[in-house]
Amino acid sequence: MSAQIIDGKAFAAKVRGQVAEHVTRIKEENGITPGLAVVLVGEDPASQVYVRSKGKQTVEAGMNSYEHKLDADTSQDDLLKLIADLNADKDVHGILVQLPLPKHLNEDLVINSIAPEKDVDGFHISNVGLLGTGQKSMVPCTPLGCLMMLRDYHGSLSGMNAVVIGRSNIVGKPMAQLLLGDSCTVTITHSRTKDLPAVVRGADIVVAAVGRPEMVPGDWIKPGATVIDVGINRIDKPEGGTRLVGDVDYASCADVAGAITPVPGGVGPMTIACLLANTVTACCRIHGLVEPEGLTA
Ligand code: NDP
Repeated sequence: MSAQIIDGKAFAAKVRGQVAEHVTRIKEENGITPGLAVVLVGEDPASQVYVRSKGKQTVEAGMNSYEHKLDADTSQDDLLKLIADLNADKDVHGILVQLPLPKHLNEDLVINSIAPEKDVDGFHISNVGLLGTGQKSMVPCTPLGCLMMLRDYHGSLSGMNAVVIGRSNIVGKPMAQLLLGDSCTVTITHSRTKDLPAVVRGADIVVAAVGRPEMVPGDWIKPGATVIDVGINRIDKPEGGTRLVGDVDYASCADVAGAITPVPGGVGPMTIACLLANTVTACCRIHGLVEPEGLTA
């Protein structure tokens, strides 16, 4: 293996430390405690784990955490009423509705009912538009975490060829916008892309957000390229049990790449750290306070 490992776990700890420092300052100087409300509808086990982890890390960073757990059959009107209450609540600076929602609820409508300045997931259509036009916005947590790691490793990304594999609204598209904002030449690829290996071979930066275990082999990677693996896939181990793997084949890619994020311990921890960063950023913007440096795009 020749690639340098980009340690997302350590980086996330550093980001959480910066958030906690800023929270302390806001509390002492302004008497304000940033607050994050997380709304979970139903009992999806993976979502429950994420929500618990988000709540714990929010409190550890010195912020208030408000969890709202609703039954799986909660009506759209009741959910919208809760969001309206949270929008009006002065103690709440960030609102996150855990996705996916049960099928009878309209996800777009729900997300777009969150006040844009409290939309710490960055999925509200206003924030999507602001990001797309290069204006100050709330930035989706996973791509923001990827960008922070890339900036930390490379310094400037200007002029680099970046290939994003995947065009989802939560990862692929905002990732491409962020890379474009940092003056990369960006190609977005997807399931209909012709000759994906050739496209990826031209990349100085590869961001894989596909949801297919170990899909990208080392021989697609340009020697020395930086590989950011967003994928989280649980696969069966031959000896029984399961393990997590990314969207790239770690062993063969690490042989060729200049730097690579592992799974687990890469993008995953950065996502929650960026949620905390977005909450403190939202709090600062709402109250007209100085924003923490280096914690947004
Ligand atoms: P989606 O399923 O929404 O999007 C997957 C994208 O991959 C689509 O654009 C799809 O193309 C594309 N794709 C599928 N198959 C291929 C293929 N064979 N070749 C090229 N492109 C392909 O997934 P998400 O963006 O939500 O998530 C992607 C991965 O990232 C998942 O493993 C998920 O678990 C993980 N994830 C990790 C997070 C973290 O915190 N680390 C946070 C969010 C997601 P098309 O549009 O044409 O169908």
